This record gives sequence, C-alpha cells and structure tokens, in this order.
Amino acid sequence: MGIMYDPEQGERFARIAELVEKSDTVAICAHTSPDGDALGSTLALEMVLRAKWPEKHYVNLLADDEPVPRIYSYLPGSENLVPASSFVGSPDLFVSVDVSVPARLNHGEAVMRRARMRAIIDHHPCDEPVADACMIRPSAAAAGVLVCEFALFLGVEITSDIARCLYCAIATDTGRFQYQNADPEAFRVASLLVNAGASPSELSLNVYQNFSLAYLHLESLVMGRITTFAGGRVSYSYATAGDLKRTGASLDECDGLVDAVRSVAGSEVSLFLKEIPGGKVRGNLRSKTDHDVSGVARALGGGGHKAAAGFTIEGDIDEALSEALPLVVALFSDADVSDEGSDAR
Ligand code: 5GP
Ligand code: MN
Repeated sequence: MGIMYDPEQGERFARIAELVEKSDTVAICAHTSPDGDALGSTLALEMVLRAKWPEKHYVNLLADDEPVPRIYSYLPGSENLVPASSFVGSPDLFVSVDVSVPARLNHGEAVMRRARMRAIIDHHPCDEPVADACMIRPSAAAAGVLVCEFALFLGVEITSDIARCLYCAIATDTGRFQYQNADPEAFRVASLLVNAGASPSELSLNVYQNFSLAYLHLESLVMGRITTFAGGRVSYSYATAGDLKRTGASLDECDGLVDAVRSVAGSEVSLFLKEIPGGKVRGNLRSKTDHDVSGVARALGGGGHKAAAGFTIEGDIDEALSEALPLVVALFSDADVSDEGSDAR
C-alpha cells in the first residue's frame, strides 16, 4: 500500500529539494532538549539527503551542548551529531526539523542565521514561519512522518537504518501509538518502516524498558505527589532540583514523568513542573480530551500542540505553579481552583 499525500505537499517537498540542489553544505538541526522525534528525524533526514545527493556535505547538529540522551544513543548516526555551539561554518542550507521557532533551536539559531537559505520540516503549528521553503503540517503525527514521505517523494530507498530512526520518531511522538495523533497515516508509515527493517522491540528495549534506577526512584516520588484540581479533571505533580540531586536522576530522563501524571483516572489535563538550572522551571502540559493546552503554554512564553505543549518560566516550583495552575484550571470554566488531592504545594 502506498503512502498518500496531497499535491501541495509534493510541491513543498520539491521546493525543499531545489534548495538542497543549490547547496554544497547542508546543516540539519532539531529543537532544544531533543526527543525521539527530533533525533530520529534529523538522523534519518541526513541519510535520506546523503542517499539522494552523495556529493554534498552534511552536518547534523544538536541544539544543546548536552550529549545525546542515553536512551536514544542506539540510533544509527547518533555518534556523529555535532553540538551547534562548536560548529563554526556557514552552511548554504539550514534545515530545521521538528521545530519552526528559531529560539527553540538554542545554539542552532546562530548557525541558522549564518546560513544562506533556510528550510523547515515540522509538524508544530506555526503562524509565520521564516524560511525559503517549508513543509509544515500539524496533522502529521511526528516530523518523522514528513521525513519518511519526503524520502518517498525523492525516490530514496528506506534503508533499515533510516527506518530505525524514523520508527523511533513516530513511536515516541505518538506515545507508543497511544496519543490522539496516532492516526491511520502514522500506522501506515510505521508499517512501511517495520517492513524496511525497523524493530518495535529494539525501540521498546532502548526507550521504554531502559530506565535508570535513579529515574525510577524519582518517578515514584513524583507519583506519590500527584494532586488533582478542578474536580479531578486536572492532575499535577512536580520535581525540584533537590529531588533530582537526591535521586541522582538526570534532567533528560525526566521527559516521561508527565505521562505518570496524565495516567490518573478522570484527569483531562495534566501539568508537570520541574526545576531546571538557572533558576527556571520547565512545564509539560498534556491533554487527554479536546481541551487545547497550547494556549496555556503560549501564555507562559512556550508553545506546542493542542494535546502536548511546554513552557519554561523563571522562578521556583511554587512561583511557576501559581502562574500556571490558574490558566490550566480556567480551561474548565465551570470549575474552581480547589485542591482535591493531598500534598499540593
Ligand atoms: P514537551 O512537554 O514534551 O517538552 O513538549 C510538548 C510539545 O510542545 C513538543 O511538541 C514541543 O516541541 C512543544 N514545546 C515544548 N516547549 C515549547 C516551547 O517552549 N515553545 C514552543 N514553541 N513549543 C514547545
Ligand atoms: Mn515532534
């Protein structure tokens, strides 16, 4: 079964391909705090472009200075990622993957500004993308879906390494095919990828059955503190810098903690806060119903999708909670901000 996409998508891919053809050096970069989609999609895109245009020079950048998260280090090519802060060149073309907002490129933003041309391949809604060509489609479950469709558009063979990276992108961004974005297209592309050599068990063993003991201890702390608001429709928990220190968990392991918070029966919107270096708090928002959490994230200086969004604000957990919670509870106009559970702070 072929993968279908609309003709406009073909035109957009053709425009990106034109930019690659006019380039000698191409830099690829995803967002800060890269997740499975960010990493899988950039690694795969580099392999796809290299297969189509082997004579060109590619560099695959990391937005941050941190190494690739341990659970994603099994992805082929991850050892070749270069921190954007140490890349001094000015590429002909800069491709943003899984990100449209320049500030979310962290150190990649400076490279983007030095580039002669810019392209975006993303599935985050963006009102005014700044690029010479872009393929932005929020209905795509993951940026990896778009990268796969780009490969098919280019006639590039999906090798098993490309498939492994793209399968990671789609499986993680759909929460193992469990979130609202797990649509027929995500399954069609995943099926094609498994057929091409991706292994669901490899993904699972590396990403979902590979937690450090320190992380599991932190998760149990976070679960022990889950509190509900708005008649049980909002669930909340947090981790302080002290919690991370005491348990020995690392920040990049904490991405999944919001999933524990959202798993509470009856909760529709979930908020997880964690203290990060620099006197800041990072917030993750998730929606299980049609309440749109992206507006809350935007109001707090962040962004994201309707069902999954994030933000970063100055202050400690208490300050962040007092800013964020009223906005979250206001999604339920008929509810007040009374604390239903225990141990709220
Ligand atoms: P997470 O909570 O997993 O960090 O992010 C959820 C979704 O919202 C992701 O798709 C992520 O790219 C997006 N997102 C998270 N934080 C921000 C932010 O600060 N700004 C924008 N524009 N998007 C964000
Ligand atoms: Mn994504």
